[in-house]
Amino acid sequence: MESKFEFLEKHYQQMFDHVAVGMHFCNGDGIIERANDFLAHMLGYEKDMLTGMSVSQITVPEDYQTLLNKLASFVGREQDHFVMEKRYIHKDGTHIWAETSVSAIYDEEGHPYQFFAIIKNIHESKQMKKIMSDQRLLLSTAMDKIPNRVFMKNAHGRYLACNSVFAKDVKMTPQEIIGKVDLDIYDERLAKKYRRDDMRIIAEGRPADIIEEYITGDTTRWVLTSKAPVYSDSEVIGIIGSFIDITNRMHMDKNIRENMALQQMEVERANEMFQLIFDVSEDLICMLNRDGIILQTNPSWFRQLGYTQSMLIGKSMARFLKQEDMAKAVAFFKEIYENGNSRPYKSDIPLIAGNSKEIWYNWSIRLVDDVIVASGRNIMIQRETEAYLINSRISAEKARLASERARIAAENARKASEKANKVKDEFIANMSHEIRTPLNAIIGLADLLSMQLNDRKQLKSVNTIKVAGNALLGLMNDILDLSKIEAGMMSVVHDVVSINDVVVDLSQIFEREVMKKRLSLRVIPDETMPDALMMDMKRTRQILLNIVGNAVKFTDEGGIVVRTKYLGRNNDETVNISISVKDTGIGIPEKDQERIFQSFQQQSANINHRYGGTGLGLAISRRLAELMGGSLALASKVGVGSDVILTLRGIELSHITEVEEVSNGILDICFPHTSILVVDDEALNLELMEEILKDRCRQLDCASDGQEALTLIEKNDYDLIIMDMIMPGVSGLQVARQIRKLPDYYDVPIICFTATVVENVVGGDHDSVFSDYLTKPIHISDMMTCINQWVNKQKSHLSG
Ligand code: ADP
Repeated sequence: MESKFEFLEKHYQQMFDHVAVGMHFCNGDGIIERANDFLAHMLGYEKDMLTGMSVSQITVPEDYQTLLNKLASFVGREQDHFVMEKRYIHKDGTHIWAETSVSAIYDEEGHPYQFFAIIKNIHESKQMKKIMSDQRLLLSTAMDKIPNRVFMKNAHGRYLACNSVFAKDVKMTPQEIIGKVDLDIYDERLAKKYRRDDMRIIAEGRPADIIEEYITGDTTRWVLTSKAPVYSDSEVIGIIGSFIDITNRMHMDKNIRENMALQQMEVERANEMFQLIFDVSEDLICMLNRDGIILQTNPSWFRQLGYTQSMLIGKSMARFLKQEDMAKAVAFFKEIYENGNSRPYKSDIPLIAGNSKEIWYNWSIRLVDDVIVASGRNIMIQRETEAYLINSRISAEKARLASERARIAAENARKASEKANKVKDEFIANMSHEIRTPLNAIIGLADLLSMQLNDRKQLKSVNTIKVAGNALLGLMNDILDLSKIEAGMMSVVHDVVSINDVVVDLSQIFEREVMKKRLSLRVIPDETMPDALMMDMKRTRQILLNIVGNAVKFTDEGGIVVRTKYLGRNNDETVNISISVKDTGIGIPEKDQERIFQSFQQQSANINHRYGGTGLGLAISRRLAELMGGSLALASKVGVGSDVILTLRGIELSHITEVEEVSNGILDICFPHTSILVVDDEALNLELMEEILKDRCRQLDCASDGQEALTLIEKNDYDLIIMDMIMPGVSGLQVARQIRKLPDYYDVPIICFTATVVENVVGGDHDSVFSDYLTKPIHISDMMTCINQWVNKQKSHLSG
């Protein structure tokens, strides 16, 4: 089996043979003990042939002596390793330069007994270096031999070489000049001019001859400078220049010189001004060659984009464009080159700034000879403003559309609600007609019955029918009122009213109830209240009935005070008044105080259960108050009581001070001289009317439709006609119109008998067909009052 030592030895040998540098071991006498393949190959020997040869045989004698001297330093162990360049002798006798690294191996007593050398072939690079130094020598000698000043600069204006006369002019050596720029050597004005000329030549790629000033120290001379671009792989990498002193020649023709100087000065001034504009311009200015390489830039590039000149010059413009704008820029360049100098070209293209932000420029580009001169105006603010304007326009348009949509939706909703309201109103009108007709019969007949009955028990039952019928009628009226108010169909009429009398009358209605509940009811009329006010008596009574009714209903202890108050006169001679109804009842929690004014809203369920009601009264009352130009307010505390205040404003004063009294004992009244015709399609109603009226008038006839009525009118004279509005076939209104046309009937009172009040057909004016109206279900007292009124009118008319 292979020992560890043998294994290492084998690998070491392999490495020694195959390594890409020469290696050998020699003993203290310089005899080669072992050499590798690389060394043998380098020197043209077979490997084995080198073994046993002396190092002196393969070393050039001068270098062998140097080697021995260096080896001597190993003896005193001054060093154990050195590197030297020496020439080896090839088998064919030629010399090969190599870099040799020698190490010594010492015995136990510290004497070197073996040397190890690593030999690197540097022959070719050594030769190349020599050729280059020879060339440089040749060039500098040649440059020095030329009487002209000669120099070379790179594209950034740094001197690469110059001859001695050039250096001498500025009191330097060529070595001192190399690496410097013109600004380090000449005054600023001259240095900048030289740089500009250089830039132009680099940009144009063509040589140029320039007559120019040349100032060194205190001396100013005139020189003729020739400059030419230096190319490497078709790229200008710098310029070479030479100039000769033509001061003497210039002296020869003073005029020429002066002219030239003048011209030169002008050119210089123009250049300086251009430079100033170039430096201070807010726009980006740059010059590019045909390949889009940046040749010159102004300081705006740094101010706006953060790029220094060294980051820009010599770089492709493409580096500063976004990928997606590249094609646009290329097409733009192509167009400029194809169409030449004919016009300036303009385009908006953004650049990428040093901080990676995109900045938009409006480029204006011209082709000057072969160079593109581009100036870019920053249009960021303009673009942002445009974007802002577009956004605002879009937002405004969106808002307009949204509001248009909202308007259409509102319009649709309005139409839908109008339609729904109409349907609802029609439904309610129809329903109320349908309900009131049988109710009319129930209440009317019960009313009549109660007048004929003497038995207490029977009377009580009939009264219950009346109470229930009236409650149902009240509810119907409330619902109808509410729907009329909501549809805007409720109108206010003006009667002459004494409000103090109204509250006194009203309180009497509640007298029995108040006594039953052992409450007190006090009316405190304001003595200063005007006697006759133009007010809607019916609506005012309706409101007061409701709020006094509530006060009585929700009070179990204590009492109610109804107080009128004159609030004074307005500028337009109208007056304001209030009526407050204060109770010591259960009160209303604050959270419910607004809610209860909405339709069908009451206090909590248990209170509702205990006291009943529909929750419509206050809703109707408040709306009626508002309709009359007033308001209905509430102040209340739970357990203490409530104060409901009706305030009415802008009430006109009446010029007629006498308020009509409602006659008492109306139920007993008779009209012995009056003949009456009743027209109604409902047999039940006709029966009822007959019952009520037959013994109270001279003649009573009944007709169940329009045709029958007209036939009767032809045969008889009637003093008063009661006409049902809604009848199958010809309506009451149409029949009444026909009657009015008859010669003797133009002023006979025709009383409309209706479940729903029809505007414009009732009233005192000439256009109205009906003289008055009675609502269904009929109340005997209302009907008697109405007939009595018209009979009296006729009487006074006849006597007048
Ligand atoms: P209704 O009396 O038919 O329920 P209203 O609209 O007149 O309808 O009243 C609504 C609710 O307001 C009543 O149910 C009651 O809860 C409350 N309310 C009205 N007036 C009074 C009052 N004077 N005292 C206590 N609660 C009242």
